[in-house]
This record gives sequence, structure tokens and C-alpha cells, in this order.
Amino acid sequence: MTINRIVVLGAGVSGLTTAYQLSKNASNQITVAAKHMPGDYDIEYCSPWAGANYFPVGAFDSDNGKWEKDTWPMLRELAQNIPEAGIHFQVYIRKKDEQRVAGQRSAGSMKDPWFKNMLPNFRQVPKDQLAPGIDSAYHFTSVCINTAIYLPWLVGQCRKNGVVFKRAVVKHVVDAAYAHHGGKADLVVNCTGLSSRSLGGVTDSSLCPARGQVVVVRNDPGFMCMTSGCDDGDDEVVYMMTRAAGGGTILGGSYQKHNWDPLPDPSLAIRIMKRCVEVCPSLVAEGKGIEGLDIIRHGVGLRPLRENGPRVERENINGVWVVHNYGHGGFGYQASYGCATTAVKLVDEALQQKDKAKL
Ligand code: FAD
Repeated sequence: MTINRIVVLGAGVSGLTTAYQLSKNASNQITVAAKHMPGDYDIEYCSPWAGANYFPVGAFDSDNGKWEKDTWPMLRELAQNIPEAGIHFQVYIRKKDEQRVAGQRSAGSMKDPWFKNMLPNFRQVPKDQLAPGIDSAYHFTSVCINTAIYLPWLVGQCRKNGVVFKRAVVKHVVDAAYAHHGGKADLVVNCTGLSSRSLGGVTDSSLCPARGQVVVVRNDPGFMCMTSGCDDGDDEVVYMMTRAAGGGTILGGSYQKHNWDPLPDPSLAIRIMKRCVEVCPSLVAEGKGIEGLDIIRHGVGLRPLRENGPRVERENINGVWVVHNYGHGGFGYQASYGCATTAVKLVDEALQQKDKAKL
């Protein structure tokens, strides 16, 4: 049997999902090499900070939309049948105010989104049930992922399939080929997220951070909720989601482009908490304001936003095949299996070309 030596550079949701999908082919001998691994909390490592839920943002006929569509069946399966993955179903209530859109959602018409027939229990809220100032709203069932459980679960699935994990920091993407546990790799999969902006051989200046600040609390609203904007500024948003298996509730948030600040801003934290209690008073005991919130921690993550959407493509750099899978902005989980499937296809194509070149 031909053995394909592959290094996956990066152990966020993109790297781990790609490694997991690649590891299902016994010919692939995989090392995941990364500066940060599940269990770490760092501003250069986005994945642990995510909510994370499934709420498509890509237009129906875009690559994004397709990747999100292709990811839903797997997330549904995990929520339904694999409790140890740390994913559960939650009812989602979207509240929309068409005048104040924060600018990150483009899933086609918001009144008639393409995913209405895909996600369970989708229904528009009748006009006479809308809160004052709300233009339209809908409910559906989606999933919420406890990243603290899910990322280690992915590591476990990979290890079961023989993937080797190691810490490594590379300056140039091609150097990652030497991080393989069995000799120089045939191919590198680049899943370095926002760091692809500075990584040698990639230096993608179309990447920028979209800073997301959150407050994680013990209170439980009992459902997920998101509004399309808020009165506190175009780069602030309102959402809450309760993670599976005791992971607490994430209160968000912000979507601050080009903002690299790793520290939680205390005034923004107060605005986030106030907005969430306003949207969902039952989050706290009756008569209480934000003092009724029981805070676990404040957090900041930098979404790896890329101007023209994620880069999932192959490239030969200095004689080494590289498959890129980075730049997933605020939708890295909900597009993870779709993007990984495309990346696996590109890996197979590149390896075939390499074999042909040998003949
Ligand atoms: P990362 O998680 O940043 O991983 C990058 C990896 O590359 C790390 O292991 C790092 O150490 C490694 N690396 C980088 N450079 C090097 C180097 N030179 N050498 C070695 N290793 C290197 N998405 C959703 O789908 N749903 C949500 O509800 C959602 N909510 C979010 C809420 C917040 C507050 C935030 C911040 C994000 C949210 N996201 C959500 C977005 C999602 O978290 C990201 O899209 C995703 O985590 C990106 O993952 P990644 O694996 O590409 O990058």
C-alpha cells in the first residue's frame, strides 16, 4: 500500500476536522503539528473561544453556503447519536431589525433564508407576537457545541485512527513538512487561521481579525437567541447560547474588524450583559439586572476573517504541495466538515499529481 505522509499544520477546528477526515483513509499517515492544542486558551488560537452554534451565513449559491450545507448532516448526527462529542440541539430564536444589520450575515433573504427547509422546526414568528421595534423573527432548532469537549473529542477520533500530535512552531509553511513523525512529508495542509497573515510562504494580507468578546455565565436562558444588530454600534451584536454538558452560556458579543486587542474591554462586557438581560429578562431572577448574572469568565477571540471568504485550495510552494484551509471568519465550526471534505479532495488530487510526476 502507498503511504502518504501528511502534516496538518494547526489544531483548531479546521485542522482537527481535516485531520479526522483524512485519517479515515488508511493510506494517510498524518502528523498534526501546532503551536496551540485543545486545552490552551490564547489570543492566537480562535477555536476554544467560539460559542459555537450552527447558523448559516453564506449565500445559497456560494462556496460558503455549500460548505455550511455539507456540514449540517454531521453536526446533526453528532448531536443526535454521539453524546461524548459535546454537541446538543437547542431551539434558536432569531430576532431581526432590518434597519440595523451588523454586517456579517448574508444568507440570502433574511425573511426567506435558504436553510428554512433544512433546519428542523423552522417557523416565522407572527407579526403580532413580535416585540416592539422588531421587524421580523424566526425560530428553528440548531446545535450548540461545547468547544471544551468537542475539540478534545476530535483529537481522540484522530488518535484512534493513528494520527500523531506534536507541538511545533514554524516560520515558513514548507518547514512544516519536516515536522512529520516518519520523515519528510509529501504534503502540508495549512490550517493556521489568522496566522496565515504572517506565515512565511503564505503571508495573506486579505486576512484580518474580527474581534469577538464574550462573557461566559452559569445562567441558562433555555434557548439560543441572536439579534441582527443593536443600538450600541455597528460592530456590536447580541447573542446567547448554552453549551452542551454544563459548558455554561456564552453571552456575546462583538464583531470588531481589524481590532487585535486581546484583553476584555470592561465597558463592552457591561454592554453585552445588559443587552442580553434586556433581550431575555428570564436569564436572571425576577427583578434583577446584570448583577443577577453568575460570571464564569470573560473572553476574547479573533475570528480569522478573509475578504473573499475562506481559502480552500492547493498550491505548490518551493516543490512542496500545500493545501490551504483557513480564513473561516465567524463560521469555522458550521463550515468545518464541508471545508474538510473539499480539502481532502484537494489532497488526493495533489498526491496523484505527485505520483504522476514520479513516473
Ligand atoms: P484556529 O482555531 O485559530 O487554529 C489555528 C491553529 O494553527 C492553532 O493550533 C495554532 O496554534 C496553529 N498555528 C498558527 N500558526 C502556527 C505556526 N506558525 N506554527 C504552528 N502552528 C501554528 N464559528 C462557528 O461556526 N459558529 C459560531 O457560533 C462561532 N462563534 C464564534 C464566537 C466567537 C467569540 C469567536 C471568536 C469565533 C466564533 N466562531 C464561530 C468562529 C470560529 O471559532 C473560527 O472560525 C474557527 O475557530 C477558526 O478555526 P481555525 O482552526 O481555522 O483557527
